[in-house]
Amino acid sequence: MTKFKRILLKLSGESLAGKKGYGLDENCLATYARQIREIYEMGVQIGIVIGGGNLFRGLNGVLKGFDRVKGDQMGMLATVINSLALSSALSAIGAKVRVFTAIRMEPVGEFYSKWKAIEALEEGEIIIIAGGTGNPFFTTDTGASLRGIEIEADVMLKGTRVDGVYTADPETNPTATRFDDLTYDEVLSRNLKVMDLSAIVMSRDNKLPICVFNMDEPGNLKKIVEGEPIGTYVHS
Ligand code: UDP
Repeated sequence: MTKFKRILLKLSGESLAGKKGYGLDENCLATYARQIREIYEMGVQIGIVIGGGNLFRGLNGVLKGFDRVKGDQMGMLATVINSLALSSALSAIGAKVRVFTAIRMEPVGEFYSKWKAIEALEEGEIIIIAGGTGNPFFTTDTGASLRGIEIEADVMLKGTRVDGVYTADPETNPTATRFDDLTYDEVLSRNLKVMDLSAIVMSRDNKLPICVFNMDEPGNLKKIVEGEPIGTYVHS
């Protein structure tokens, strides 16, 4: 028995770049794919949303003079590239996987709908939902929250490079301490950098718990679905 039957896994684009910090790292993709297959084999239904920050962010484009909406559309396309890369790494190790896109672009991926996504999950496929929300001015954190709620996931697992939510940035502040557990309102009132505000508010209003954990520590994903207290848990 696993603690969660259906999860939404959010991965940042940057995490796919590995140590290079830019683009796609095939070793990193393979490591993530192995960890995802491990919980897939345990019977967990898995939806995945990936960011695009390793390739392009709309706001960075604005700094270079791009139109914001076009920049965001480029960012959304970056998430599609990342989604195809992870789907390829998962297929290569025998997992059944289907890519959905928030913006119509067959045959790259199937146009997303909640019902097709749930049907695929129930048929034993891992689904990757690319293209964020499909709209500019949003982030893939909000996309992950939206899709997690739509597919009726039990939890959103946000894989990061740190092992949870801290009082301050642990990479720059050695005195920062980690929370085991937080409410959505504490995240908002303490202005903690968990996800962007719209993602937190949307998760709070629709009661989607969030677990922030270190995805670069192999085995963590399995431990979480088995019910071990890994990372920081954000809830009502
Ligand atoms: N984006 C967008 N709408 C969405 C999701 C993403 O316009 O619903 C664009 C936005 O420009 C963003 C980029 O895609 O900067 C990449 O997504 P994000 O920054 O969330 O990626 P991550 O930080 O998770 O790698």
